[in-house]
Amino acid sequence: MLIKSLRIEIATLALSSIIIVSGLILWFSVSAYETLYQKAASNDLNGLSENLAIDLIPFVDDADEFDIQNNLLQLEQYDNVRFALVIDDNTQVISAYLGKALTSNKTPEELLALSNFDGRAYAPLPFGMTLSEHKILAKKRIGDFQASLGFLIIENDLSGPLSKSKRDLLFSIFPWVVLTLLINVIIIFIVQNRALRPLVQLARFTRKIKDSKDYGLIAKVRGKKEISIVTEGLNSMLQAINLEVKKNKEKNALLEQQQEKLEQLANFDVLTGLPNRHYFMKLLDDAARKAKASDSDVILMYFDLDGFKNVNDSFGHEIGDRLLCIIAERIQISMGVEHTLARLGGDEFLAMIPGKIDDIHIKESCNRFIHALSQPVDIDQWNVQVGISLGVARASEASFLVTAMVANADIAMHRSKSEGRNRFTIFSRDMIESSRRKLTIANAINYAISHGEFKLFYQPKVDIHGKIIGYEALARWFSEELGFVSPAEFIPIAEQSGKIAQITEWLIERVCIDSKDILAVNDSLKIALNLSVHDLNNTRLIPMIRGFLKLHKVDPRKLEFEITESAYLDNLDGANESIQDIKAMGSSIALDDFGTGYSSLSYLTQINIDTLKIDKQFVDHIGVSEQGSLVTQTIIDMAIQLKLDVCAEGVETAEQHAILAEGGCNILQGYHFGKPEALDAILPKLVENQQQ
Ligand code: C2E
Ligand code: CA
Ligand code: CA
Repeated sequence: MLIKSLRIEIATLALSSIIIVSGLILWFSVSAYETLYQKAASNDLNGLSENLAIDLIPFVDDADEFDIQNNLLQLEQYDNVRFALVIDDNTQVISAYLGKALTSNKTPEELLALSNFDGRAYAPLPFGMTLSEHKILAKKRIGDFQASLGFLIIENDLSGPLSKSKRDLLFSIFPWVVLTLLINVIIIFIVQNRALRPLVQLARFTRKIKDSKDYGLIAKVRGKKEISIVTEGLNSMLQAINLEVKKNKEKNALLEQQQEKLEQLANFDVLTGLPNRHYFMKLLDDAARKAKASDSDVILMYFDLDGFKNVNDSFGHEIGDRLLCIIAERIQISMGVEHTLARLGGDEFLAMIPGKIDDIHIKESCNRFIHALSQPVDIDQWNVQVGISLGVARASEASFLVTAMVANADIAMHRSKSEGRNRFTIFSRDMIESSRRKLTIANAINYAISHGEFKLFYQPKVDIHGKIIGYEALARWFSEELGFVSPAEFIPIAEQSGKIAQITEWLIERVCIDSKDILAVNDSLKIALNLSVHDLNNTRLIPMIRGFLKLHKVDPRKLEFEITESAYLDNLDGANESIQDIKAMGSSIALDDFGTGYSSLSYLTQINIDTLKIDKQFVDHIGVSEQGSLVTQTIIDMAIQLKLDVCAEGVETAEQHAILAEGGCNILQGYHFGKPEALDAILPKLVENQQQ
């Protein structure tokens, strides 16, 4: 387009300048020709009239009109003569001649009118040649100056012959002009084509770049200097652009990579590669919306590993991390790769399964998970085992709200956890009520401690003869807000909410203070107090016990610490360390609730304890079933073999007392001997008992 218009413009310019120049030349030559022609015609007429004037002298002198006419007739051969007049000295026309230039195409009447010349009109004219636009007029004296006979006038037509002559001239040169123009056009076309070809190629090249966006192309340098310079300039510009484009591409690729990485980091767990909490919530929200719209449902599963902290503490974080990956893989395989599993953080996982699934199928799935996850894992030379607590919630029960769903699954999971390892719970609405109460209880503990709502009750421990040999301190909470709260309820909540340490601290100091009153009656008694699993992992526990014993001047040998079997086994190393320290102080250790945990009896050989407390559930079976009695007896026998004291809890009947004493149990505790009571209540009873 651009080239075309350029070509037309150049051609138009060249052609029009040629036309103008040739027109001007033509005009100049025609006007020069015109002057030359006039001159020549004037010269001719001058000669002719001169000769004729001389020829006429004798005849004018004689006034021979006929001969004068005859002489004038020789003008017949000149086409351009309009008329000739012979005028005498008195300005009388003697003879007139009308030439071809005047007579042609004229009627006789017209001719008659024309031949009416007035000689006086020519008298003032100077002699010689008079030139006007259309005619040449010659005035010649007949005779000489002194003896003038008259004068001769000849008028020649100029315009007619001049224009004819000009026409002839033009006709003769016109073909040459056309030819010259044609040749010029051809030359312009060829030259222009040759000159513009590199420019056309350059234009084509730029169009190609525009279409292909390939800035790596190089244009060939050709054509005249100016085009070469433009081409070179274009090439260097292209190189610069190409470099920029390449750099940009690299930068973009890097940015994309970083974005991908960021997205990966933002949405996925680094360790397991599973979606993280943030991303899972988004997916869960999508699934819940879809389910709501299509009258379907989503099952949310909350996995929490049991004993994972032990693995981390005992085998190190590297093994812990590998275990998490293996667990994640096992869950994913058991649930199917098409379902989404996410790591919530720590040892918690969330999984979702879309669709309406009935309880039977959920139970089947949960059992499958529990089975898969309870299989020991071999990592390096270690054989690692963890349990799993599972909570299941349905989107439909949480109005398809993600946070409510997760909260429900969390409640269900905690229910599983509180019931022991490797369990699952399907959420139901009544759990919310209980979890709400849990929250109230957890929030009320600090207030309870600072406002003296906790009290210590003491339950006697007796020998086989019923003589009190010690007490177990048991916490009681008379809450202003909640009324009486059982330790069976608030202790686990305090443990879960991280408030048990404060209770234990209060408890130890209280025991130290109260023990003085008890020991004042009999200083061979022992006072037992309960420690929780969290206490054993608390590094401040031992210094705190030491501090209170010293402060209240209590002999450590008078204290016994009861530790539940599960508390102990959840953190073998940490617990053992605390136990060693307690033992080193001189206090004794009782293993509480023996038989309710999951440990094998072989653990007993590894633990440095003094007393084994047989759980109430075994005592309850004594005398009821043979099997029950047998189990209890076995425990007693084993304890004796390990040279441990054996204490039976929850003895409520004389029969139980008798059988246990018979079986070799040396310490007894239960309502049969005394309920837990406040210090004020137990002291008089103690005095009475000691006197028996
Ligand atoms: P535990 O250590 O096994 O305490 C024995 C529980 O059995 C006490 O319940 C006691 O009142 C009850 N008991 C004793 N003899 C009988 C009986 O003959 N029949 C029946 N039915 N029950 C009997 P309590 O006081 O409600 O304590 C429940 C659990 O709470 C305790 O079990 C202990 O694990 C925990 N606990 C209580 N006080 C404290 C404390 O101060 N610190 C810690 N860490 N735990 C405590
Ligand atoms: Ca106890
Ligand atoms: Ca117990």
